Amino acid sequence: MTNDVLDCALGHARRYLAGLEDGPVGSTIGLEGLRERLDKPLGREGLPASEVIDQLVRDAAPGLVASAGGRFFGWVLGGAVPAAVAADWLTSIWDQNAALYACSPAAAIVEEVAGAWLKDLLGLPMQASFAFVTGCQMAHVTCLAAARHALLKKRGWSVEEDGLAGAPAVRILTSEHGHGSIARAVGLLGLGRKNIVRLATDTHGRIEPLALADALDGTRPTILVLQAGDIATGAYDDFETLIPMAKAGNAWVHVDGAFGLWAAASPTKRQLMRGAAEAHSWATDGHKWLNVPFDSGYAFISDADAHRAALSYRAAYLTHDDDARDQIDWNPDWSRRARGFATYAALRQLGRAGVAGIVDRSCEHTRALVEGLRNLPSVEIVSEPVVNQALVRFRDMRAGAGEADHDHRTDAVVERVNASGEAFFSGSTWNGRRVMRISVCNWRTNAADVDRTLAAIRNALA
Ligand SMILES: *Cc1c(COP(=O)(O)O)cnc(C)c1O
Repeated sequence: MTNDVLDCALGHARRYLAGLEDGPVGSTIGLEGLRERLDKPLGREGLPASEVIDQLVRDAAPGLVASAGGRFFGWVLGGAVPAAVAADWLTSIWDQNAALYACSPAAAIVEEVAGAWLKDLLGLPMQASFAFVTGCQMAHVTCLAAARHALLKKRGWSVEEDGLAGAPAVRILTSEHGHGSIARAVGLLGLGRKNIVRLATDTHGRIEPLALADALDGTRPTILVLQAGDIATGAYDDFETLIPMAKAGNAWVHVDGAFGLWAAASPTKRQLMRGAAEAHSWATDGHKWLNVPFDSGYAFISDADAHRAALSYRAAYLTHDDDARDQIDWNPDWSRRARGFATYAALRQLGRAGVAGIVDRSCEHTRALVEGLRNLPSVEIVSEPVVNQALVRFRDMRAGAGEADHDHRTDAVVERVNASGEAFFSGSTWNGRRVMRISVCNWRTNAADVDRTLAAIRNALA
């Protein structure tokens, strides 16, 4: 029975991948339609496993978004390279609990090895500790928990034992544009969103050094969050200038590099990361630019002792190993998926050149999309690509049209492109104006996808 349902799933998987070229990119069904298809009475008796899978595939199909394919440019999602998908399947078959070395020696060693590969690829200090987490959001939580521990310990306060009530307030300096996952991490860790200080940026979203100088006082516990790749513009903060300033002001420096940290893996983009290795912690994703399936983020922390002190826990029923790396000492989870296998497989399939190739090609395709749009009537390039992100606005060409009309037309064009099923984009607001985001992070995207997407946008403009 197990084999039958796996054969059945393999068949569906093959057909899904084969259909990525021809099928619509966006979902083709509304909320009510999906509920009708999927909301079945939960019967007393179960169903044969293959029947469950056949029905699931049939019912879910119109509500799936082809973000695994090459013409999906919404948000910052990423696809999945074949070896990583296959390793991810086997992770479920093996069903290891990657909490402790003792629960799965292979899962522990694979994380140990892949963690070292990642530090090397990303140009981070080799003595940094790391954690394989669910995504960049939890990487921020992990890194900022270590920061909170270190900053308060210096002031004679054990936050893990004593809590935060009565502790000195920790300030979090970040850009006006900083990603929302930072505010969520700050909220979860009890640091208080009111303690976030938004620093002024230049027009690309990079923190102004003078704004940082004004905010640092050298005495209050402070975390500076810098960006390697702004979610909207892809801009990189000036690490070489800002990190030494922050360190002189006794701040902990954390880098949000959810997608942008991967520039370090490309010889042609690496200069964007100059000076970033001097920070205290770094957060990034495997499921974005590396193209590992979802459920893959990484936290790196230069002060391994602070990291371990913030997260480690000992319980009588656990079996700890003195020589191996028990993941529970570094991760916020207890039981957890052995997510290291997928990363390990992706890195081995791609090699250094393969990772650099995904980064470079995504940047080239982003540039090609922008160049293809630049001279079309009504197109305004709001943000030129630094890496794989760009912002475009579609102006309303009627006489007397104002910003609100341009906003409206921009959203309408995005909707029309998405409704065509040929490509998928998401919108955003940048400096108060609606824009279409271009985000290329899928290993499958090729020049033909770019041409087909440009044709779909031209159609939508017509
Ligand atoms: C996607 C993203 C995040 C959040 O990462 P998740 O993997 O979704 O948790 C944080 N920061 C930036 C810049 C991002 O692009």
